[in-house]
Amino acid sequence: MKVTGWGNYPVVEATVHTPSTIDDVKKIISSTDELIARGLGRSYGDSSLNHTILSTLRLNHILAFDEQTGTLTCEAGVSLAEILDAFVPRGWFLPVTPGTKYVTVGGAVASDIHGKNHHVSGSFSNHVHSFKMLLGDGTIVVCSRTENVDLFWATCGGMGLTGVILEATFSLIKIETAYIRQRVIKARNIDEALDYFEENQHWTYSVAWIDCLAKGDSLGRSALILGEHATKDEVGYKYRDPLKIDRPFSASVPFFFPDFVLNTYTIQVFNMVRYASYFSRDSFVEYEPFFYPLDMILDWNKIYGKRGFTQYQFVIPKKSSAEGLKTILKRISESGEGSFLAVLKLFGKQEGILSFPQEGYTLALDFPLTQKSMNLFTELDEIITHFGGRLYLTKDVRMKKEIFEKGYENLPRFMEIKRRHDPQKKFLSLQSRRIGIV
Ligand SMILES: Cc1cc2nc3c(=O)[nH]c(=O)nc-3n(C[C@H](O)[C@H](O)[C@H](O)COP(=O)(O)OP(=O)(O)OC[C@H]3O[C@@H](n4cnc5c(N)ncnc54)[C@H](O)[C@@H]3O)c2cc1C
Repeated sequence: MKVTGWGNYPVVEATVHTPSTIDDVKKIISSTDELIARGLGRSYGDSSLNHTILSTLRLNHILAFDEQTGTLTCEAGVSLAEILDAFVPRGWFLPVTPGTKYVTVGGAVASDIHGKNHHVSGSFSNHVHSFKMLLGDGTIVVCSRTENVDLFWATCGGMGLTGVILEATFSLIKIETAYIRQRVIKARNIDEALDYFEENQHWTYSVAWIDCLAKGDSLGRSALILGEHATKDEVGYKYRDPLKIDRPFSASVPFFFPDFVLNTYTIQVFNMVRYASYFSRDSFVEYEPFFYPLDMILDWNKIYGKRGFTQYQFVIPKKSSAEGLKTILKRISESGEGSFLAVLKLFGKQEGILSFPQEGYTLALDFPLTQKSMNLFTELDEIITHFGGRLYLTKDVRMKKEIFEKGYENLPRFMEIKRRHDPQKKFLSLQSRRIGIV
C-alpha cells in the first residue's frame, strides 16, 4: 500500500504489517531483513517509512493504572487521545504533550517528544519509568534507568532504530479541572518575546506564535501564550463538573487544495490577521483548544496540496538564541517564503542520546515543499549549524548527513549502542539511510 508521513511527502509503496500479539511481532521481525515501526504516522517526513513497516496500531491496550501514584502501563499503539479520554475525567493528565493528541505512546518515546512545558518538565522520556522492547534477534528486554540503561537512553529519541517498543510505563500528572488558566502577552519583536519568555519561566506552559513575515523593528513580533492547569477554586462554580468538557467542534479537509491556494500573499494576510486577533489578556480555556488547536481540523495537512509540506524545526543554544533567531527570521522574511505556523518554545536540558531538545529556543515553521523553500532550508541549515543548533528528526524529510552529524554530538555513542543491540541492522528507515544511520 501507499504510505506517507504527515507532510504527505514522500509517498512510498510498502508492506504494512499490523500485528495484534507479541508473538506476531516476533514472527514479522524474524521473517524480514529490514523494517521500521510506525504509530499514527504524525512524524512529518520519512522517519516511519521503509519498504516494510510494522504498525503498532493493534497493540492498543491499557494494561495497568495505579490510582495512587498515577503510574500508567499501556501498549505502544495506545494514542495520547485515548489516554486523555480515559483519564481526564478521573483527574489525570499527560505529563508532556505535543501539539496533536493523535500520536501513539511508542511514537512519543521514539521521538522523545516535547510540549510547551519542556523548560519545567523536560521531554516525554523524563516521565517514563520503563518500557518493554523487542530486539532484532527476537529477545524481549525491559529498559529503565537501572536496567539496560544504555538501550533506554538510546531508544528515547532513537526514532525506532533500536527495536520495537511494545509497552511503556510512565507517570500521569494530577489535575483538578480540564481547564487551563491562560495569559496572552503580545510582543512587538523577537527581543521583547525572548524577554517575556525569560520573565515568565515559572509558568508551566509557554509558547509564542510568531508572525514570520514581519520585518524591521517588528521582526519576530509575536503573541506569547502562557498556561497553568486551573484549580477548582479558580474556575469556581462556573462549571458544574470541572473535569468534563464538551467534545470540541471538528471539521475535516476533504481534498488536497490546489497548490496556488497557499502563496506568499495568502500567508502574509493570514499572519497579519492572526497577529491582530490576539489581545493581551487572561482567561480560562478548555485543554483541547489550548494544546490541540490544529486537531479541530482533521487532515489539515491537505491544505498544502499534493506536493506536500514539511515542518522545519530547529533549536539554538541559549547563549546564541537571540542572534541566531534574528538572523534566521530576517532571512525567512527576506525570502518571502512565509509560514502559516511559526511556533517558538523554550527548552530545558536534553534527555535521550539522540533527543532533539537542548537548552535554548526552538522554532518550528511549516513550509510547502517547493524548490524555493528547499533552497532556503539549505541556507538555514548552515546558519543553525553555525550557531551550534540542530534540526528535529521527527519533522525532517531532507536534512543532509553532514548537518545531522554536526548537530547531534552524541551520534557516535548512539551508533555504538545500535551496533551492539541491532547487529543485523534490522531497524532502518528512509530517514536513517539518508542521514547515515545504516
Ligand atoms: C500537528 C502536529 C503537532 C506536533 N507537535 C509536536 C510537538 O509539539 N512536540 C513534539 O515533540 N512533536 C510534535 N509533533 C510530532 C509528533 O509528536 C511525533 O512525530 C510523534 O513521534 C508521532 O507519533 P506517531 O505515533 O504518529 O509516530 P510515527 O510518526 O508513526 O513514528 C515516529 C517515529 O517513532 C517511531 N516509532 C513509532 N512507534 C514505535 C514503536 N512502537 N517502537 C519503536 N519506534 C516507534 C517510528 O519508527 C518513527 O521513527 C507534532 C506532529 C503534528 C502532526
